[in-house]
Parts: sequence; structure tokens; C-alpha cells
Amino acid sequence: MSANRPRLRHRPKALFFDLDNTICDHRTSLQIRLNHAFEPVIPDPEQRAAAVEASVAMATDGTDHFPELLGRFKVERPEDIEHAIERYGSDRYRGLELFDDALEVLQAVRDEFTVGMITNGPTDIQQPKIDLLAIEHLFDFTLISESTGYWKPDPRIFEMALDLARVPAYLAVYIGDSPDHDVAGAQAAGIPAVWMNRTSLEWQSERFPDLEVTDLRSFVEHLMELGD
Ligand SMILES: [Mg+2]
Repeated sequence: MSANRPRLRHRPKALFFDLDNTICDHRTSLQIRLNHAFEPVIPDPEQRAAAVEASVAMATDGTDHFPELLGRFKVERPEDIEHAIERYGSDRYRGLELFDDALEVLQAVRDEFTVGMITNGPTDIQQPKIDLLAIEHLFDFTLISESTGYWKPDPRIFEMALDLARVPAYLAVYIGDSPDHDVAGAQAAGIPAVWMNRTSLEWQSERFPDLEVTDLRSFVEHLMELGD
């Protein structure tokens, strides 16, 4: 059975989107932040690029791993490690941008669908991010896990979205990049789940998504082909 075998049967009435790495490019932003953090302590660009890559492999956020990581690149003085940590924390949203298909697609789907966002994270990080990206007006509602009390993959945050959109689960579709948080969570709430696979990864979990796409445009094209 292929992850590409589409199992969406009904044209939905509501679309729910994940934020990070689905609508905005959190991965690139992280690389830009890390490069900024390491610039003064690893001046050589090639070495620094290797350190950025190693850091992303060790952790997708935070600086707890910096001492071990920087040690591998011969940065061992406590003041240098502290300097890198300070620079990492100096602008959380450095380099954060929408994917180039996001605005066009979010604007296009508003006429036909109820549109919601379900994002995991602390409210004081996710809300400023949504504000900075200037996308809140494109959604009928946005649910941030800390504010709701439920974190994906808890099906209750997906059920809140169904209540807000006033649709049964089978008439909604959820799209996100995380197999565990997004696809498994939405499916646990009975919502067809689309895996956003922008970096062409292999599907690893036992239960497949209802559809796999590599960008938002092809997601919407697929929806438009579905009958009622
Ligand atoms: Mg995500």
C-alpha cells in the first residue's frame, strides 16, 4: 500500500492547517538562527555550515545541546558557548517566512471552505509568529495548543476545530507535516489527514495518511477534483 494512494472521498467543507513546516518555513528559519548564533565562534563558513547541520540533527529547538555540539567544533570556552546561546535567543523569528505557495493558497480557499489553523506550541511564541506572518485574517479561527489546553496529537484539539467549523469529521480535512502529531492526531479524531511532505521523506508509521502532497498547490488541486 502506498502513502500516495488517495483515500479522500468527499469534497470537504472545512480545511484545517498546521503552521510550522506546512505554512511557514520553520526549518530554514532554524538554520538561519543557528548560523547567526555560531558566526562569531565558528568563523569558517564551511565549518559553521557543518555545525548548523549537526545542530539540526541533534535538536529542532533550544540550546541545551550547544555545549556538546560546539565542543565537537573546538568551541569550549564557557563565554563563547554563552555568547552563541545569547545570539540564538536574540531573535526567535529571524528568517521566518511563509512558503511561497502559502499566501496564494490560503487566499484562494477562503471563498469555498471554512479555514482553521491548529498549531502546537506556547501561546507567547506561536501568536507573535502568526502576527509577524500577517496571516490571521485568512483564517476563521486559530487554535494554539497551550491556549486550548490540548496538544496535538490529542484528538480533543481537532474536535474543538470541528465544533468551531460546525462540520462532521468526514467533511473536514487536516494537513500537516508531522506523522505523529498531525496525521495520527487528526485521524484519531476521525478527520481525513493529509501529510505535507515538502522534503520528500519516507513514510515510517504503520497507519498511512489519507493523502500525501509536497506543496499546498497540489493539495488544493486534489481537493477540487473531489465530488460532493
Ligand atoms: Mg508542523
